[in-house]
Amino acid sequence: MSNYDNQNIFAKILRGDIPCEKIYEDEYVLSFKDVNPQAPSHILIIPKGAYTDINDFIENASNEEIIGFNRAIPVVAHQLGISETSGGKGYRLISNAGSEAHQTVAHFHIHLLAGRNLGPMLVSIK
Ligand code: AMP
Repeated sequence: MSNYDNQNIFAKILRGDIPCEKIYEDEYVLSFKDVNPQAPSHILIIPKGAYTDINDFIENASNEEIIGFNRAIPVVAHQLGISETSGGKGYRLISNAGSEAHQTVAHFHIHLLAGRNLGPMLVSIK
């Protein structure tokens, strides 16, 4: 069972309690700029439903929510002009789940990063 906390920062953004720099919105998702960008384009995509992380989302969201969320990814990438099919040079998606992945906001989200060479996927730490 999910222990979703509706006081998390993204829940507040979804309610309009705090502002965001919106990129895209539809029935299923909200997409906005990350406040601490790690690349020239650093965008977050979040579902409108209350899910703590990707496990909670995939296990408990409806098929419509899951499809709606995934379909929003290329829409945002094309809108930003970062996908190779819209003239860009590509992008990286990251979703942190849990403490060792350094998830800091407990509302499921994906990071969409682009605008520079992002290098190898992870810094190698053994
Ligand atoms: P994560 O560490 O994967 O949970 O990512 C959370 C992200 O949310 C971080 O990259 C933060 O910079 C970002 N963030 C935190 N507060 C806000 C906010 N008010 N608006 C936009 N992004 C935020």
